[in-house]
Amino acid sequence: MILLFEIIAFLLLLACGALGFWVAYLSRGAEAAKQREEELQARVKRLEDEAARLRLKGASPPLPVPPPPPPPPKASEEPFSMRDILLHVPDGLVVTDANLRIVFANLTAERIIGLPAAEADGQPFWEVVKLREEDGEALGEAGCPLTEVLERRVPLVRDSDILTTRYNTEVPVAASIAPVLDQDEKPRGAVYLFRDVSQAKQVDRLRDEFVTNVSHELRTPLTVIKGYVELLIEEFGDTFMPSQKDFLKVINEESDRLAKLIDSILEFSQAKTGEVGLRQEQFNILEILEDSIKFFTPPAVKKEIQILRKLPPDLAPIKGDRNAIRFAVDQLMDNAIKFTPEKGTVSVEVGGWKLEDGLWKVELSIKDSGIGIAPEKVSQIFDRFYRAEQKVHTLQGTGIGLSIVKEIIELHGGTISVESTPGQGSKFTIRLPMII
Ligand code: ADP
Repeated sequence: MILLFEIIAFLLLLACGALGFWVAYLSRGAEAAKQREEELQARVKRLEDEAARLRLKGASPPLPVPPPPPPPPKASEEPFSMRDILLHVPDGLVVTDANLRIVFANLTAERIIGLPAAEADGQPFWEVVKLREEDGEALGEAGCPLTEVLERRVPLVRDSDILTTRYNTEVPVAASIAPVLDQDEKPRGAVYLFRDVSQAKQVDRLRDEFVTNVSHELRTPLTVIKGYVELLIEEFGDTFMPSQKDFLKVINEESDRLAKLIDSILEFSQAKTGEVGLRQEQFNILEILEDSIKFFTPPAVKKEIQILRKLPPDLAPIKGDRNAIRFAVDQLMDNAIKFTPEKGTVSVEVGGWKLEDGLWKVELSIKDSGIGIAPEKVSQIFDRFYRAEQKVHTLQGTGIGLSIVKEIIELHGGTISVESTPGQGSKFTIRLPMII
């Protein structure tokens, strides 16, 4: 019995020990799990903090809040009325109704004409703005340029009229005239916008004088150079080597060319001022083109430029100054070769005939495959001393050639125009009246 009790006690003790072991074992496992859970949560928190810190670092700064829009100006605060603006336009401005009675004249117009606007109000335009053409013809009621604008309903530019002021002084003016049309395209009036161009004319005159004076000054040393070259050829020609003779020949020919150029400039400026009229002779323009091609063949060959001809076998004659026209053609040829790179082409063409201003005009063109002219510069290339391409200024040139060409052609009743594409080439076209 005692043994049984002991066995039972022993077994009980054994069972308690195992239970304690399991309890201890299980409670240690729960503690470890809790610790691990806490560690995980701490890592998650660290990661979240790091992510927040990085987001803050990479984020763009907050956008500034735009200022509130300014309040719209009140009508009473508007600085100028349209009338104020027109009154102070720095060019003269006169507006008429459909009967050419003045309805508005601004302050500049008052100043140029010398008449208070209030007195001009309701007056006929031609009685206030007294105009005449440069050659003297008065533009009164019958010839008033505003009438033409209202009849044709298109704007008109007149850049060389003379205005007689109230004090009987004369002012050269350049004007733009436009019709004012209603919704049905019926004329309601006209706008005459004009500028006093006395200063520009004065500058033009000074430039002309300068060119004439320089040309005179150049003539003297040139005559001396030519004289000495001729002397060398005549007196010592036999003693020179062939190449030396060739050099002297070139100097002689180029001096002749320069002398002709100077003579043409002088003749031209005298013709322009009316001192000497242009010669009136009949000549064949084809001969001039052929002579010019011959003259420019050596410089063209030097640059391997091909000169092409598209010329008819015969052509009606032209009346005018042969030297002047040759000068004009030479200038265009010279430019064509000068502004065309090596291996390009220059073509000389007679394009046909055109009826222009009641006259049959022959159309000649000199076309090159050269550097061309930028569109915004095309309108200026006929201006005196204008040179469009700065980069090629190492090339000889004065910027005067084309202005003289234009004046020569216009003095012959002709016109000149140009079409050009940068990088592709230019085509200068002259139209001259023919004798038929
Ligand atoms: P220049 O003595 O400079 O040749 P021009 O009056 O003859 O003076 O020409 C004025 C300018 O027009 C030139 O400097 C040049 O920029 C431009 N021009 C004239 N002809 C040509 C051409 N065939 N091709 C390109 N540019 C030209």
